[in-house]
Amino acid sequence: MTNITKNLQAVRQSIREAASSCDRDPESVTLVAVSKRHSTEAIRTAYAAGQRDFGENYAQEQRDKAVELADLDGIRWHFIGHLQRNKAKHVAPSCALVETVDSVRLVEELSRQAVRLDRVVSCLVQVNVGEEEQKFGCDREEVEEILRAVEKAEGLELEGLMTIPPWDLEPQETRVHFSALAQLRERHGGRARLPHLSMGMSHDFQVAIEEGATMVRVGTAIFGPRT
Ligand SMILES: *Cc1c(COP(=O)(O)O)cnc(C)c1O
Repeated sequence: MTNITKNLQAVRQSIREAASSCDRDPESVTLVAVSKRHSTEAIRTAYAAGQRDFGENYAQEQRDKAVELADLDGIRWHFIGHLQRNKAKHVAPSCALVETVDSVRLVEELSRQAVRLDRVVSCLVQVNVGEEEQKFGCDREEVEEILRAVEKAEGLELEGLMTIPPWDLEPQETRVHFSALAQLRERHGGRARLPHLSMGMSHDFQVAIEEGATMVRVGTAIFGPRT
């Protein structure tokens, strides 16, 4: 068994344990394997081990990998990096889900691309819940306007919220960011309107699951360190 296959099994096991420990159905948590800066070979290995959801951060890299891996039936690409409007055209053809929608202007461009391609692209609105000096994600006050823009937009489907806490926090310090995202969902229509919460990475996905994550984005714990 390759390391990737073993790592995947271990991560899936941790997800099951974290979900059970807080009385959640493990099936309610989708594992997104973050494959940025890893090879298409690594992705094929994970796919062969049953993984279907993959996350990428760079628009051209995502586009090129999707083309190269077009033979992998049922693969679901998540775009999880900061998306500039002029790069929306790269990810719109193959992404099932863009997790980093953080402005009305990006919504408009994504919609234009989705309509052009006759596709439906699911969207999560990325929120900078900590409101510290982070570059990306919208502020809390902007959330409702962006949610409405996604709901109105042709070719887009609103699926929930996403957040990235500051990178240097310890797992237990990220908890307040995750619970803040869950509370924000309650303020904006709850599960009926926003079924998904994407939060948690290799070092803190257990905490995120305890706080209600339905998507966890795990790179290093599956694929090893990025080069
Ligand atoms: C890279 C990345 C991840 C995965 O991080 P790991 O620590 O390798 O698990 C998750 N989410 C986002 C937004 C990322 O950029």
